Amino acid sequence: MTDIQFDVIVIGGGPAGYICAIRAAQLGLKTACIDAFKGKDGKQALGGTCLNVGCIPSKALLDSSKQFHGLTHNLPAHGISVENAKLDMATFIGRKDKIVKQFTGGVGMLFKANKVTAFFGTGKLLKGNEVEVTGADGAKQTLKAANVIIASGSVPIELPFAKFDGKYIIDNAGALDLDRIPKRLGVIGAGVIGLELGSVWKRLGSEVTIIEALPDFLGAADADIAKIAAREFKKQGLDIHLGAKLSKAEVKKNAVELTYADKNGEHKLTVDKLLVAVGRRAYTQDLLGDGTGVKVDQRGRVEVDEHCWTGVDGVWAIGDCVRGPMLAHKGEEEGVMVAELIAGKAGHVNYDVIPYVIYTEPELAWAGKTEQECKDQGMPYKTGNFPFAANGRAVAMNEPAGLVKVIAHAETDRILGVHMIGPVVSELIAEAVVAMEFKGSSEDLARIVHAHPTLSEVVHEAALAVDKRALNKAN
Ligand code: FAD
Ligand code: NAD
Repeated sequence: MTDIQFDVIVIGGGPAGYICAIRAAQLGLKTACIDAFKGKDGKQALGGTCLNVGCIPSKALLDSSKQFHGLTHNLPAHGISVENAKLDMATFIGRKDKIVKQFTGGVGMLFKANKVTAFFGTGKLLKGNEVEVTGADGAKQTLKAANVIIASGSVPIELPFAKFDGKYIIDNAGALDLDRIPKRLGVIGAGVIGLELGSVWKRLGSEVTIIEALPDFLGAADADIAKIAAREFKKQGLDIHLGAKLSKAEVKKNAVELTYADKNGEHKLTVDKLLVAVGRRAYTQDLLGDGTGVKVDQRGRVEVDEHCWTGVDGVWAIGDCVRGPMLAHKGEEEGVMVAELIAGKAGHVNYDVIPYVIYTEPELAWAGKTEQECKDQGMPYKTGNFPFAANGRAVAMNEPAGLVKVIAHAETDRILGVHMIGPVVSELIAEAVVAMEFKGSSEDLARIVHAHPTLSEVVHEAALAVDKRALNKAN
């Protein structure tokens, strides 16, 4: 029985879903958003993985740990010394929790301001664009809408021989909520989560060992950038083992005993906590009722076209539960696109220019093609790079590690990719994204006035270097 009619129902209140709901409401559509996420207090916490146990809390802990580490590793170079620096764990974790609450609560306020109706519970798509909502108390109700958007997100992949127990073998949520600094932290997977959260605890004093199955480090990044990252992380003491396969993880005497093998044979390692960060999978459990016609691919992702349409009238899917990178900003833009298409506007996402950022020290950021991809695609290209060590601002900040690399088409000079490792490159990448969206050339970047002294001059000089005319280094 249908008891509430909407124009748009969004299932999932993460960054893809909540942004979609707000945009739909802005466009005058009567919108509902159903979300099941419970905060630490057991109450509804909108914002999904990103706001609760992902982007935001991880950046809060990365910032706190960077400040702490800087006391002993950066400030002495400025002539500042601090004795007996201490970390108060309750404040460290409490600050993160406060930030999470501020932002999850903020989504609730935005829903009210935009007249989005929030439902706390689990949504299931039924035939004919009906959605069954099972509330936290088990009560069911059925909603109906012309358009339903699935934004159910993703969950961590579990290894069968290292199952999460929430105490010793933990996922991202566990690693963001430890009550003490583990003496020995094992991490399975040298991907984004492994490196970011491994860095947090390393900076606070944990011995961090990362076990990565693949032989290459950060295979998705440009090889020049990955090489510098590997060197810098090694200097920081992150012990990264490549081509290493975990076969066993046993909890014994308040610790986890690991067995893994690499080209040198089998090894044993004992750690106090084990973070398993081997990727995430689309979450579609109990989401689709019989006969909806919505298809799911071999990796459990909802099948969609380039406009996030599932092929079923009025049913769309966005964010981590569909193909493409699992990034908050990718999901958000898909949410805006779908809301605008529903409202009869020209929604679009340019999947070729999505920025990627890894918030380690130094940070990594890139957009567009890597040099390897240009080679594999037989694309004629030229490159220019410039080191932060030759940039006045970076040296003044005592953060000289890294470089910016610009890849441009050899004939047209159009920018094909920009790759960065260095201080605050998470912010610098935006300039490259704008230039690429406007189909800019390296010459365009090279001719733009950049303020002095700023880190952005490294982007300027790298663009000049494409044409072998960098000014502050020998070409
Ligand atoms: P989610 O955020 O997963 O939200 C889905 C929501 O839907 C959840 O609240 C879930 O409870 C709810 N839900 C699922 N099924 C149902 C149902 N049937 N009924 C009702 N509700 C349902 N990305 C970045 O871009 N930058 C970062 O810095 C970054 N850092 C990250 C750090 C960590 C530790 C992790 C784990 C991820 C990080 N990500 C980052 C990835 C980012 O969090 C995801 O890409 C993003 O959250 C995906 O958004 P989404 O809305 O598709 O899904
Ligand atoms: P990931 O895909 O980045 O890395 C997983 C790593 O684990 C890979 O290097 C993979 O080769 C390795 N691996 C897989 N199976 C293994 C095994 N059995 N043993 C050892 N290594 C194994 O995934 P993640 O770090 O779990 O992050 C999940 C998603 O969250 C990512 O797709 C990312 O997009 C998103 N995320 C983004 C950010 C950011 O944008 N800064 C931060 C965190 C997470």
